[in-house]
Amino acid sequence: MIEKVLQLKCNCNQYPWGKQGSKSLAATLCEKTPGTDFKIDENNSYAEMWMGTYPELPSYVLETGEDLQDVLDKNAVELIGKTVADKFNHTKLPYLPKVLSIAKALPLQLHPNKDLASQLHAKSPEQFTDPNHKPEIALALGDFEAFCGFKPLKQIQSLMQLPPLEPFMPEVRKPDFDDQTLKHVVKAMLSASEDAVRKTHDALMALPKDKFGDDSYIPDMIPRLSEQYDKSDNGTLVALVTMNYLQLKAGDGIYIPADGIHAYLSGDIIECMARSNNVLNTGFCPRADRDSVDMFCSALTFTPHDAKEAILPAKSFDGSKNGKTLLYAPPLSEFNMLATTLEDGDSETIRKLGGPSIMIVTEGEGTMKADGKVYRLSEGFIYFVGQGVELEFKATKKIKAFTAFVE
Ligand SMILES: [Zn+2]
Repeated sequence: MIEKVLQLKCNCNQYPWGKQGSKSLAATLCEKTPGTDFKIDENNSYAEMWMGTYPELPSYVLETGEDLQDVLDKNAVELIGKTVADKFNHTKLPYLPKVLSIAKALPLQLHPNKDLASQLHAKSPEQFTDPNHKPEIALALGDFEAFCGFKPLKQIQSLMQLPPLEPFMPEVRKPDFDDQTLKHVVKAMLSASEDAVRKTHDALMALPKDKFGDDSYIPDMIPRLSEQYDKSDNGTLVALVTMNYLQLKAGDGIYIPADGIHAYLSGDIIECMARSNNVLNTGFCPRADRDSVDMFCSALTFTPHDAKEAILPAKSFDGSKNGKTLLYAPPLSEFNMLATTLEDGDSETIRKLGGPSIMIVTEGEGTMKADGKVYRLSEGFIYFVGQGVELEFKATKKIKAFTAFVE
């Protein structure tokens, strides 16, 4: 009989925006997997631990060393289940959960929708490695700062009246500041020369703070972001003037739709996305790494259009016996996420799910009874659980666990 609960060994990648050495939660969780060969080098910046079967950074079954995807291919009916395999017409996991540890701004980015992704993948498969879209969610594990979606038009319009921002407005002005005007502004900011961007930043910093209204954080953030990249980075202007700046706390979630503009700034998060790795970058990265501004701007979506719309609320989960598990359900078919929080001595049962799941323990100690066996839960332990398995948790020390699933 096939084992339906498989402890996984995952890997962590290194990007310059990741946290240094053991300051990176992604890296420390990754290193805590028993028997892993992953070792932290204090000189490296560790950005993302991936938990899933995307070929760029796949997960392995801890006990046997097999690639998880090979095991899924061989046992699709038992592990993925017919419903999910039929729904997506493949035996891959339709989602990819990650732990991110962010020391400085990630590239200002969007993930193209399915149509654009398939065109880009057909043209440049080495850069766009799949034809899928990549809507994503981010759940804060502690304080988390992010730029996400656009501010309300009225708020952007009033900022654009500041004299240093005048040159980014269209020459012919419509009576209303609408999304077309905003698109022009974003494009003008992203296309501006290094010199123009630097001068604009200096001019904004020279203005009295009260000129910025509710956005009085802008002049303080310019030096902070300039230090991370450069005062000539176009991303700073777009992020500060047009995008929502969110300061989130542990448990808060945000949802980024396909084509949604975003740039995460600091913190440790659990991220989950549809199975894809496609991205268009335009700022907070070297000029040579940027994708075409025209393509970026033509793909842009203008939802969300205020900070509230970007928030993904936690709901109660009908499959939780003791109410210790919350549900984050973004408006898409590829995945939902559960967050289980147990105090010392607490227990919880999660109903059989109709598809495969991946769970990571980010805090605490305890046990999980599943499929007739008892498994240890501890920080950094990651399990794949096949469809149709009830999970019984018991905490000996306060537990936090996150479970991505589809059904
Ligand atoms: Zn992203």
